[in-house]
Amino acid sequence: MTFRSQLHIDGQWRDGSGGRTFPVMDPSAGKELAAFAIAEETDCDEAIAAAETALTSWRATSPRERSELLRAAFEILRNDIERLAEIIVLENGKSYADALGEAKYAIEFFRWYSEEAARVHGDFRRSPADDKHILVTHEPIGVSLLITPWNYPAAMATRKIAPALAAGCTVVLKPARETPLAAAFVVEALQRAGVPAGVVNLVTPVPTGPAVSRMLHHPAVRKLSFTGSTEVGRVLLHEAADQVVSSSMELGGNAPFVVLPGADLDLTIEGALVAKMRNGGSACTAANRFYVHSSLCEEFIGRMVTEFSTWTVGPGSDRSNQLGALVSDDERDKVAGLVDRAVADGAEIVCGGESLDGGAFYAPTVLRGVSHDSEIASTEIFGPVVSVIEYDDVDDAIRMANDTIFGLIAYVYGEKGAALSASLRIEAGMVAVNRGVLSDPAAPFGGMKQSGLGREGSAEGILEFLEEKYIGIDL
Ligand code: NAD
Repeated sequence: MTFRSQLHIDGQWRDGSGGRTFPVMDPSAGKELAAFAIAEETDCDEAIAAAETALTSWRATSPRERSELLRAAFEILRNDIERLAEIIVLENGKSYADALGEAKYAIEFFRWYSEEAARVHGDFRRSPADDKHILVTHEPIGVSLLITPWNYPAAMATRKIAPALAAGCTVVLKPARETPLAAAFVVEALQRAGVPAGVVNLVTPVPTGPAVSRMLHHPAVRKLSFTGSTEVGRVLLHEAADQVVSSSMELGGNAPFVVLPGADLDLTIEGALVAKMRNGGSACTAANRFYVHSSLCEEFIGRMVTEFSTWTVGPGSDRSNQLGALVSDDERDKVAGLVDRAVADGAEIVCGGESLDGGAFYAPTVLRGVSHDSEIASTEIFGPVVSVIEYDDVDDAIRMANDTIFGLIAYVYGEKGAALSASLRIEAGMVAVNRGVLSDPAAPFGGMKQSGLGREGSAEGILEFLEEKYIGIDL
């Protein structure tokens, strides 16, 4: 398979000005897939200059025109969905089913925002003193820097590009170093759809920090939309402060999965498998800590172990494998270290608990007797590990669920009334009640506390790329 592995600046695919490259690896096989161009600082400057120049005409296009270009990109990608999924499998390591699920989710942002582009409303009000009329309009915020992680290489890019373009902004996309190929595939689809030169640019600087800092200090950049770890998000918020760059942050999570007394265990197991194992556990939304009521705990653990005993682990190129590789050997070793230290802390491995041969694979794992205060319960695991914490009192479970700096998503399983009531007490931007998955382009995705600022997707997502303007009119 051949890949786009160059920078995209002002409508041109080209190497970096320094001629340097970095390897993109297949973590299932430990093999190099492509040598991707490194963007030097001058290339990043040129990308921003291209976005700045293109902004004048792009923001003046009609909403309908932008809408139709996004729709065309959606159709192009829909016709090539299997190839997008295959690229995701190769560079990220996830299973084919997960990659196809991501690809379908990713392209929906182009369809959704092709519809939202034409639905940006303003307002016309009368002042209370009747001395003027108040006209409120929305304007595109300007050149936007989009930074994405490796765990959803296509969807995190489209979730930002689509609302930005719909709003009339131009963008510079910086994908994760591990997974630039799916991002380049998406950018190429936009180009094929007819999006004008300079509206979407792609750069891959190495090292990342100094180049991103430089871009954030460029006066043309007015928006930062970042998805990644809370740690890096904090650094970038400091950087963005210097030029008061508007910042949207989709950061880390530590999702509790609360099983209330009376929960239907068939539904709970089905939901737990999706909430934990989607994307091999490498998801900000992944259930990270399972608080299971003592009346159900033994059966919950037994059934999870039975489920995992049938799972097949291996490269996503074999479409029947249910669990793929982690994105790198380092990530696999990080998961293994967390499990080892949890055991040293008193947890017991009920199944799994080991790295597997052949690539960055880790076995589906269940841990029991995990302590709420342990490292594994307070750190994003980002791998296929179910940590079970037994509880007796629901108030205690809610207190533990909320006892974290994160607040992205939580899962609650139980009888409808009890589950809804618990969901209202949980501090998270999203709560899944008797469901294992929530992500939907039509719903506002985002976190409370240190899991983020702002929302992506839905009608709210486009507002992140718009600024309100108030015009007072003396009639
Ligand atoms: P990361 O923070 O290491 O990297 C994210 C992006 O930031 C990458 O493009 C990376 O190259 C770049 N980056 C790294 N250091 C930087 C620096 N000093 N300056 C500027 N840019 C820098 O995160 P990751 O390991 O790629 O992804 C995993 C994390 O992303 C997890 O914490 C996960 O929860 C989070 N995530 C959150 C969401 C969400 O919507 N809330 C979605 C997906 C992933």
